[in-house]
Amino acid sequence: MQNTGAETVTWDLDDLIAPPAEAGIDSLLRQAEQRAESFGARYRGRVADLPARGLAELLAEYEWLLDAIGRVESYASLSWSTQSDEPARGALLQKVSESQAALAQKLVFLDIEWANAPEERSRALLDDPALARWRHWLLTTRRYRPHLLSEPEEKILSEKSVTGRRAWTRYFDETMASTLFDWKGQRVPAEVVLRQLYDADRETRKAAATTITRGLAAIQRTTTYVFNTLLAEKASEDRLRRYPSWISSRNIDNQVDDATVEALVSAVTSRYGVVARYYRLKKRLLGLEELFDYDRYAALPAAERRYSWSEARDIVLTAYGRFHPRMAEIASLFFDNRWLDAAVHAGKRGGAFCSSTVPSVHPYVLLSFQGTAHDVMTLAHELGHGVHQYLARDRGVLLQNTPLTTAETASLFGETLVFHDLMDRETDRTVALSLLVRQIESSFATVFRQVAMNRFEEAAHTGRRSRGELTTEALSELWMETQRAMFADSVTLTPDYAIWWSYITHFVHVPGYVYAYAFGDLLVRALYRLFLSGGPGVPSRYLDMLAAGGSDWPAAIVKPLGADLADPGFWGQGVELLEDMVAEAEKLAST
Ligand SMILES: [Zn+2]
Repeated sequence: MQNTGAETVTWDLDDLIAPPAEAGIDSLLRQAEQRAESFGARYRGRVADLPARGLAELLAEYEWLLDAIGRVESYASLSWSTQSDEPARGALLQKVSESQAALAQKLVFLDIEWANAPEERSRALLDDPALARWRHWLLTTRRYRPHLLSEPEEKILSEKSVTGRRAWTRYFDETMASTLFDWKGQRVPAEVVLRQLYDADRETRKAAATTITRGLAAIQRTTTYVFNTLLAEKASEDRLRRYPSWISSRNIDNQVDDATVEALVSAVTSRYGVVARYYRLKKRLLGLEELFDYDRYAALPAAERRYSWSEARDIVLTAYGRFHPRMAEIASLFFDNRWLDAAVHAGKRGGAFCSSTVPSVHPYVLLSFQGTAHDVMTLAHELGHGVHQYLARDRGVLLQNTPLTTAETASLFGETLVFHDLMDRETDRTVALSLLVRQIESSFATVFRQVAMNRFEEAAHTGRRSRGELTTEALSELWMETQRAMFADSVTLTPDYAIWWSYITHFVHVPGYVYAYAFGDLLVRALYRLFLSGGPGVPSRYLDMLAAGGSDWPAAIVKPLGADLADPGFWGQGVELLEDMVAEAEKLAST
């Protein structure tokens, strides 16, 4: 692996908990416990009877408590994510997770009492100016009303989740992080091997795919068992909470209705043809007779370019700054103040993320930078989240974060800005084609691949509910069916590919999550078009939208930009833009 300059880029978590961390955590937890105790003594049984001013005081104290707990939790989990093979960090995470569960139990009465407040009473409070700051939270908290259990039942579920769902997801993470793959005589993490799928050399890609398959097959008993357990746990919780389908609770979380999601999914699946059309072009560009699953990400000959860490930084900041200077200003904070961890090493968890942590601190970004264009786009993606979360801090801990559906808007928009900037800089036609192809592939990964994965999840969840425990083979079959539906005859899926459902962390961590990527991508295509055609006010209206965080329904937040989520033709337009990009690539390829 070449040096990129990112080797020394590690984050500084002191802003979350000042050193010595152990003492800081204990003292903050003790303080939180005391305040949670008196919070309960003061408000339990009275939530629905409080006057508006009293409810506002309660919510301010509640925000303090969540901020304190979130601060400790963020520290433990971020510190663990860069060194997940260090037992002390795992132990700290577990300890904090247990304290958090204990504290959450003391606070759980608030949601329940508020959700159960009589309709008339709650309507009067919602219209009171003293509560304007929390209005959307007060509204959305009541949307779970039909699905909440009694307080003792909620307590049991919350306490049991430590040794239930949370324990299983952590076991999955640790299994994945400790599974090393044989690559060129070395034992390396999956990330490193997965990168080889982008290699221009077919034998390298094929060998990488075989290595991944072997590694996943070796732990398939564990991954199948964990996945089945989580499927079953979700089935029973959904049953207890009376959710009509496996995806209903996710949609309520996302603040969209089932019908909107169905419209999105069918808009995408009904145009799977564009996927086959693109991969036929790619097959031609690669000069291959047949395109196998391990060929899909192959870099085209001209696309070989490496970026140093400082180049990546310049590219992102320039593109952001061109859209709006404030975007670049905020993104710079991450580099200047060590809010980023980009180094690659063993024990670091895979993937990339931006953690919002808590409003009293600031977000942190993690990635493993190896200098590819993909890494540059990942940086643009995560910093998009970073800018969003940073701007939305003023909304407070209850309303800072958007639901998943719009959580990817800023990240994908950041990627889009960087992409067009890179295209503008490019004078070489072949390189422009490669860039376009990469963007198409990235969009396909967020739109078509995620929707195909949503089809797999749907099949797995409904299958587990109707057929009982699923074998590895049964899950693999569902995976192959849902992937084949998308590729048709354009890509040959080898039998090896069947087990590749088993490393996807989203299925384990956040069931139903994946369609949010498609939602976000198609939304961003439309917003970007508005920016290109639009008045000079679009960039600042866009920043206003980010600063709104999750303080209103997604449909209301995007409306000032001219986006109408309820319009059935809206999603189709997003897909049409992708079709245009494929047509453009076909044109560039034939001249
Ligand atoms: Zn993201």
